[in-house]
Amino acid sequence: MRFSALKILTEGLTGNRGWGAHWRDPEPAEDYDIIIIGGGGHGLATAYYLAKEHGLKKIAVLEKGYIGSGNIGRNTTIVRANYFLPGNSEFYSHSLKLWEGLKTDLNYNVMHSQRGQIGLFHSDGQRDAAIRRANSIRNQGDDAELLSVDQLRKMLPYLDYDQGRFPIYGGLLQRRAGTARHDAVAWGYARGADQRGVDLIQNCEVTGIDIKGGVVQGVQTSRGAIRAKKVGIVVAGRSSQVAAMAGMRLPIESHVLQAFVTEGLKPCIDHVISFGMGHFYISQSDKGGLVFGGDLDMYASYAARGNLPMVEHVAEAGMTLMPMIGKARMLRSWGGIMDMTPDGSPIIDKTHIEGLYLNAGWCYGGFKAVPASGNCFAHLMATGTAHAAAQGFRLDRFRTGRGLMDEEGTGAQHNLH
Ligand SMILES: Cc1cc2nc3c(=O)[nH]c(=O)nc-3n(C[C@H](O)[C@H](O)[C@H](O)COP(=O)(O)OP(=O)(O)OC[C@H]3O[C@@H](n4cnc5c(N)ncnc54)[C@H](O)[C@@H]3O)c2cc1C
Repeated sequence: MRFSALKILTEGLTGNRGWGAHWRDPEPAEDYDIIIIGGGGHGLATAYYLAKEHGLKKIAVLEKGYIGSGNIGRNTTIVRANYFLPGNSEFYSHSLKLWEGLKTDLNYNVMHSQRGQIGLFHSDGQRDAAIRRANSIRNQGDDAELLSVDQLRKMLPYLDYDQGRFPIYGGLLQRRAGTARHDAVAWGYARGADQRGVDLIQNCEVTGIDIKGGVVQGVQTSRGAIRAKKVGIVVAGRSSQVAAMAGMRLPIESHVLQAFVTEGLKPCIDHVISFGMGHFYISQSDKGGLVFGGDLDMYASYAARGNLPMVEHVAEAGMTLMPMIGKARMLRSWGGIMDMTPDGSPIIDKTHIEGLYLNAGWCYGGFKAVPASGNCFAHLMATGTAHAAAQGFRLDRFRTGRGLMDEEGTGAQHNLH
């Protein structure tokens, strides 16, 4: 089934009875060439690129819940390529380019909207840092523009510019940044992988990893044992638990991050906006709800729901920046489990066990990374060598201390990244 304007028109006129399921529901086979543990954005994208770009067959994605039940369906959907440090900047640049062709590649409307992201600054020091970041982004080949307060006042008239404590000095705009519909990204990759023969097996929890003589043999699951030549761990917030099944202790802590949405409003916020003096970022969804988020709940947890003090903290930051949102009613909030590394940057690497690979540590920036993460992890699993855009994401940097990418400059404290 391919989506096209003609197909939509025909279905619309004939009662929408001709749409089929987006992917099959196969029983697990006894063995595969490659098993991906985790049917989130990164796992599905990995399977898709393994089949599409490396022509591999006999691939399965094992998902303990349903496709889209993890962070891929819980995030605030921000997509950007404005990272500062080498290692990260080329990777996110690669990802944004993939985003720009994604709906055509997948033949699926992922609602990628390049509405621009503006990071505000509130002091001379922050302005200097924004200028350095803008130069670094431009050197990478991506776009970055510095905005004066006068320019900002025209674009975002609803901000509180003269707030006594945090006056706004200007902003750093990336026009190619924006949002995409999170669960459509999961569905689009799932459908694309399925069309290329990948078995997507839902309600199949991996409970053990079989290893013999230092070589991976397969996995134990809630639906029986499955053999595989190669296994990729792509389970985001559950990375430490699944890696422990292979006897590995990862440099990762799991923390809750919450997101919030208001009732639907008429269009009022055209961009993605990030407050520079508190952790607060906001955009307006196509349905009209204001979608926003803030800091982690600050203690390690596997609960996929948040706590009230952080609700208050985020609401305060929102009110400080744009008092008008006080009139909107918050409808819902939810949480997701973040796989936080000590330097805030991810891991795409082999492990010391032959045939066992690791994709983890996305912290709260992993949605924008989905296309490049899948693309680079597939490259690593298929060829055995790191993709040019993901050279820096080595696991041993946490052992040696060399090549750390501390984007926030906060040091080795997981919850501060
Ligand atoms: C509230 C919130 C806001 C965010 N905002 C942004 C944002 O604006 N921009 C951005 O770039 N990033 C954002 N992120 C981060 C981003 O969503 C994540 O980094 C990314 O989705 C993680 O990768 P994933 O999609 O593969 O994870 P997931 O969707 O969590 O996939 C992992 C899957 O593994 C499965 N699994 C776990 N254990 C097992 C097992 N034993 N067996 C089988 N399956 C298993 C899980 O069920 C899950 O489906 C946000 C996250 C949250 C929670």
